[in-house]
Amino acid sequence: MRRLNSRLRSRFTALACAVVLLVPAAPRPAQAQNQLPTLGDPAGEDLGVGTERKLGDEIMREIRADPDYADDPVLLEYLRSIWEPLLASSRSRGNISPEIDQRYAWEPFLVRDKSVNAFALPGGYVGVNLGMIAMTSTRDELASVLGHEMSHITQRHIARSIANSKRQSLLSLAALVAGIVAATRAGQNSQGDAAMAAVVGSQAIGAQGQLNFSRDMEREADRVGFGVMTGAGFAPNGMVAMFEKLDVSTRLNDSGGFPYLRSHPLTSERIGEARGRLGTVAPPPAVGVLEHTLAQARARVLMDTRFDALRRWQALDGDRVASSVPDKLANAYESALASTLLRDWSRADASIAAAQALLRTPEAQKDPKIDARSERALALLQAQSLLARNEPAKAVAALQPYAKDNSRPVLLLESQAALALAPAGVSTDPTLQQRAADLQTWVATHPLDSLAWTALGQTQERLGQPLRAIRADAESRVALGDLNGAADRLRAGQRRARSFGAGDFIDVSVIDARLRDVEILRKQSEADQKQFR
Ligand SMILES: [Zn+2]
Repeated sequence: MRRLNSRLRSRFTALACAVVLLVPAAPRPAQAQNQLPTLGDPAGEDLGVGTERKLGDEIMREIRADPDYADDPVLLEYLRSIWEPLLASSRSRGNISPEIDQRYAWEPFLVRDKSVNAFALPGGYVGVNLGMIAMTSTRDELASVLGHEMSHITQRHIARSIANSKRQSLLSLAALVAGIVAATRAGQNSQGDAAMAAVVGSQAIGAQGQLNFSRDMEREADRVGFGVMTGAGFAPNGMVAMFEKLDVSTRLNDSGGFPYLRSHPLTSERIGEARGRLGTVAPPPAVGVLEHTLAQARARVLMDTRFDALRRWQALDGDRVASSVPDKLANAYESALASTLLRDWSRADASIAAAQALLRTPEAQKDPKIDARSERALALLQAQSLLARNEPAKAVAALQPYAKDNSRPVLLLESQAALALAPAGVSTDPTLQQRAADLQTWVATHPLDSLAWTALGQTQERLGQPLRAIRADAESRVALGDLNGAADRLRAGQRRARSFGAGDFIDVSVIDARLRDVEILRKQSEADQKQFR
């Protein structure tokens, strides 16, 4: 099982490049806007926007079903807080045509993997490994990576790569992906080169020359991405800092842990160009430094939650080397989260208290970089820790200052607390009813939020609404791409309604209607898969 997971995980690092070789070129959509692709781009050879989105959706269906698809509400919220301004900047610069604006997903997601990687997928998805967040020390560095990947999407590099590799398009997706999985996994272990050599000659390696975007595309993504990130207010030196960091890592490392370097070879030219752009934009004041420190710390712990790794993070509560506030804060957060996952409550509490005290030190307070977001990040960790040891009332108290912030992490933690606090058995608890209403409102605008649907289902079950709970459970499976599982749940709902007369007329109708929808989705998905294979 574990082996299968690691195969799939490896696939994440390769799919972005892999799939672009396989899809027959479709008629190209009309060009719009001034800032659209500037590279050679002969008419009539692009992949259609709609087809590309479908391909991306099919890939995402597989990814969402993998245990290493990391839906951590806290880190995902942080990632989005950088992604959204970049997207707005991209739009305002005219990089996004109305067609792709509407039809692409524009969705960043996280992968639980400690290797350093970020990648664009067809249809507007961008994956970011936790290892990438763990290595960035400022939000500007992370923004430079996201801006670059976003620009691969806005410049339609994937579609153009497909057009440029027509001769490869007859290979089957399955064979190619299998080969690339092997190649990627080989690259992640110590005997990388030998293993790589072993698969040379396979179809995957035969296509190796096409795996990555062209050098011109990389330069274009650097240039456009730089404009996007500075336009969004991020510090321009974020990109140079990121390149320099990757450059040092290349020398220290055989790049096995840095798939990003394999798909984005660092050349002195790229670094030079990034430096050259620095003078063109005035640096904004640094913001969000401590908030980034906390996100980085969280990514470090969550990217590898095996016992030994957690023990190492936990031991940082005894570290006496760190001297700066950010370093000490990172240590405290890492130790607190690791202790929570190790269920060592007293050490978790001590580290949370240490982190809170650090935010109140004169050094942190006089630093203009401190912001309320850092305190909130600590409160979320504290609530998570308290819920893990079944102290929901204290968790609610920790979340109290943020109870009205309408955010996903707070909503999910509060719902968990309400479930734990409600009396046993079927309940009419008003707080539980309120949480059900909040979650219902949330999923109405975020229908693919699997965790929210799961929480809603659990809440409705406790409120004595079994059919609604079954429907919510089914929706959580739809969100994870498990259409068969969803259909099974909905059918179970129908049986239950028939045999026990459970639910009112509306609940039963909703189940029937959703089952029809899911069947249509499933047929559509099967047809799409055939088209891509
Ligand atoms: Zn790139």
